[in-house]
Amino acid sequence: MRRVLIATSNRGKLRDFAGAAAGHGIEIGGIPNFSSLPTVVEDGTTFEENARKKAEEYSSYVPGEMVVADDSGLEVDALHGDPGVHSARYAAPDLHGVEPHEADTNTDDEANNARVLRELKNVAWEKRTSRFVCVLAAARDGKTLATFRGTAEGIILDAARGKNGFGYDPLFYFPFIGKTFAELSAEEKARYSHRGAAFRKFLDWCDGGGTADSSQRSG
Ligand code: IMP
Repeated sequence: MRRVLIATSNRGKLRDFAGAAAGHGIEIGGIPNFSSLPTVVEDGTTFEENARKKAEEYSSYVPGEMVVADDSGLEVDALHGDPGVHSARYAAPDLHGVEPHEADTNTDDEANNARVLRELKNVAWEKRTSRFVCVLAAARDGKTLATFRGTAEGIILDAARGKNGFGYDPLFYFPFIGKTFAELSAEEKARYSHRGAAFRKFLDWCDGGGTADSSQRSG
């Protein structure tokens, strides 16, 4: 059984990844003492940059192990791709009076959603197209082996709908099954989400032998 360590302190992510990997003969674990390691500063301008940076830095603490890190967020076309890599801090101007890239803490989901709604006020339905993006990077001994991109296409509603999930889920309407992401069960979210899509690409790559190359598997 091969082993992959996920660079996250989020137990929900670990559980989801472990469930998906089980049928592939891959054991998923966390990085030992993850919360006591220095935090990697996510100052990249793309999801790829941040995912690679995290995977490379964290893999240097566990020699010889394959480490996977992810970065994700929401891109809204009418906002030129924002909140993008700043998804977790989008409301920083409202709450702390600084731009998202200058903020040193995340802002809460409610405030982030409120800002998206405000920025999209008076934007017509057909122009509210958006996507969730997740990029996973797999690294060993400080070097990225490959990256994997998963997306989910949707429309930003003008009011929240649904109680499940987190982040921008209640605003993200997914036409494919006529629900917001906050109306999906955990199984549906794993099947349709950007994170699930990226992780399945990673698993396919592992099934094929996990040969090192730094190209990106997009789609
Ligand atoms: P992270 O890279 O997983 O930490 O995600 C960064 C931010 O993107 C989160 O704080 C959320 O605001 C947003 N985000 C990422 N994935 C999702 C999702 O599946 N649903 C809702 N929001 C998400």
